[in-house]
Amino acid sequence: MTSMQTTINQLQTLRDELTHRIDAIEKDVHHKNEPVEKDFAEQATQSENDDVLHAIDDEAQLTVQLIDAALTRINDGKYGICVSCGAEIPKARLKAIPYATTCIDCAE
Ligand SMILES: [Zn+2]
Repeated sequence: MTSMQTTINQLQTLRDELTHRIDAIEKDVHHKNEPVEKDFAEQATQSENDDVLHAIDDEAQLTVQLIDAALTRINDGKYGICVSCGAEIPKARLKAIPYATTCIDCAE
């Protein structure tokens, strides 16, 4: 297996995990929106939980978009090149964040 194939597998595995997580969150939030009798404190906790879930959901969806972008860039032969300055993204960074689209300098 080439190292690029390993990266593709890594990205797809991560994408599957995130998609499952998004599904689970959306089912959970949906379920919680069903009318149930609650006192005010419970409702407040409920909406805080939903905010947290939505934040996780948003982040997961954003990461899925970055993964798709990375997979497209692999197809285009542009993977590992910083979208901002055109420099090569260090391998250590890609290993940690395989969907990174910028070098560390540009990410900051
Ligand atoms: Zn850069």
